[in-house]
Amino acid sequence: MLDLPPAPLALDLDSAALRANWRWLARQSGVAACGAAIKANGYCLGAREVVGHLLAEGCRDFFVATWGEAADVLPYLGGASLSVLHGVREEDMPFALESPARPVLNSPDQVARWKAAGGGACDVMIDTGMNRLGLPPTQASRALLSGLTIETVMSHLACGDEESPMNSEQLATFIGLSAGIGARRRSLANSAGICLGPDYHFDLTRPGLALYGGVPRGEASGHISQVVRPRAQILQRRTVRGGETVGYGATYVAHEDRELAILNLGYADGYLRGFSGKGLALFQDLRLPLVGRVSMDLIAIDVTAAAHLREGDWLEIAFDLPTAAARSGLSQYELLTGLGRRYERIWR
Ligand SMILES: *Cc1c(COP(=O)(O)O)cnc(C)c1O
Repeated sequence: MLDLPPAPLALDLDSAALRANWRWLARQSGVAACGAAIKANGYCLGAREVVGHLLAEGCRDFFVATWGEAADVLPYLGGASLSVLHGVREEDMPFALESPARPVLNSPDQVARWKAAGGGACDVMIDTGMNRLGLPPTQASRALLSGLTIETVMSHLACGDEESPMNSEQLATFIGLSAGIGARRRSLANSAGICLGPDYHFDLTRPGLALYGGVPRGEASGHISQVVRPRAQILQRRTVRGGETVGYGATYVAHEDRELAILNLGYADGYLRGFSGKGLALFQDLRLPLVGRVSMDLIAIDVTAAAHLREGDWLEIAFDLPTAAARSGLSQYELLTGLGRRYERIWR
């Protein structure tokens, strides 16, 4: 069999940065244990590798959304704790009952289902105001939950990344509701919640975004390092003459002769059209602007300032998450979780 040629686009993934980010979040979490949200394939970095690096740092509590995601990572967890945030549907039960992962029970139906089946240890999500998943306050009662072995009772902040009165309201509601539930541990904070201070930490924190280089709030700025660096190969170098246009919609007009590099990267790779006319490629100390629209598989970079770049050379794509989010209008979460399958993922 012939070997496949290497992909013309790659993600350089910085394991030292990932580990340092977790250590910072763990220190900020104080006496609380620091876990890791690894749903969506570790925010699209690759859950298996993320798990390996975080286990080595001492992380022992992991969170995924679905049982499919649980199945993917369980072989690599070495017995660490795994919670499945979306709980158990009827069709999850056979798998969930056999699995060492715990469901996070969200609704009275899920609670009833787990009890009726004599399921083992579980977690419980209570809703403290977000109105997404979780038992509403009126239902989060000792009576409903009696008979369950609850490892962790948790809730989730709606506005942790903002200055919002909702944070302290959710905190107060969580303190009140969780007290009566008889769980071994309490957990409220995601990445942003960790930055809100010790009142929000309880026994276990659940960062996701900040592990992977996202900066959820100003407090984390300067402490969280970039983990993901996309790069793409130059497929063609060309000259456009003054007055010519570039790309779909002819949105970019060259006012004078320009040199372009056409890179193997596009919106099908999660580099979405919000970067049209706004993205940047990095080469040595140059910041090279993206011109025209992002296509499905291609972007055009103005390399007039980099005379020696050639077909076959690689350019890093500026992807510092807070900055790239501001430029593209996408959230830091969307930037990560859109990263597609065509990149070769290279851990360093
Ligand atoms: C995704 C998720 C997290 C992690 O949130 P980040 O904002 O990425 O840190 C924590 N808890 C729950 C319930 C989640 O769904």
